[in-house]
Amino acid sequence: MILELLKKVYRVSKALSVKSPATEDVRTHVMHQSDRFRGEHQIDYETCIGCDACNKICPTTAITMKHLPFKKQNIVPEVNLGVCIFCGLCEDVCPTKPEKSIILSGGRYDMLSGGWHEDQVNFWVHVDVPQEYIDSRLEAEEAARVKKELEAKKKAALLAMKDKEVKAPVSGVPDFSGEQI
Ligand code: SF4
Ligand code: SF4
Repeated sequence: MILELLKKVYRVSKALSVKSPATEDVRTHVMHQSDRFRGEHQIDYETCIGCDACNKICPTTAITMKHLPFKKQNIVPEVNLGVCIFCGLCEDVCPTKPEKSIILSGGRYDMLSGGWHEDQVNFWVHVDVPQEYIDSRLEAEEAARVKKELEAKKKAALLAMKDKEVKAPVSGVPDFSGEQI
C-alpha cells in the first residue's frame, strides 16, 4: 500500500517536473519545422514573372496582385493572411525554377496577433520593391526599346536598299523596256 502510494507520488512529481511543450513560448522558442511546413509566405519579386497563376488558383481570394510600374512582369502577389487557409496551392502552381517565387515552407510561423478585427484586416504579406530596383528595370526597358527601334530602322533601310537594287537595270544587259515593237 505504502509502496503504491510512493510510486504515485514519484510519478506525479516526475510529471510536474517536466515542462509541457504546450506551454513553450513560441515567440522565443523555435518550434520543430518540417521541410513541408506551411508558414507565412515569402515572395521573391525579382524572380516572379507576374503570371497571375497563384492569384487565380487561390481558393479564398487571399491574394491580391500589386501593380509595378514596368511593362513586363508588372504584377506581384501580396497575401492577406487573415483569410489564407495555408493550403499551399499558390506555391504548388508557381512555375518559376529552380526556386518558386512564392513559398510557404520555411516562412515565418509565429504569426501572432492581438486577436482584434483590425489585426486580421491588416494581416498582410506585403512586397516592398526598392526604388533602385524599379529604376534599374525602367532603364533596362528603355534601353531595350531604343535598341528595338534602331534595329527596326536598320531593317527598313536594308529592305529599301534591296528594293532599289532589284528595280535597277542589270549592267551589260540593254534596257528595251521603253522600245516600241
Ligand atoms: S496558401 Fe492557399 S489560401 Fe493561402 S494564399 Fe496560397 S492559395 Fe491562397
Ligand atoms: S505564380 Fe509565381 S510567378 Fe506567377 S505571379 Fe505567382 S508568384 Fe509570380
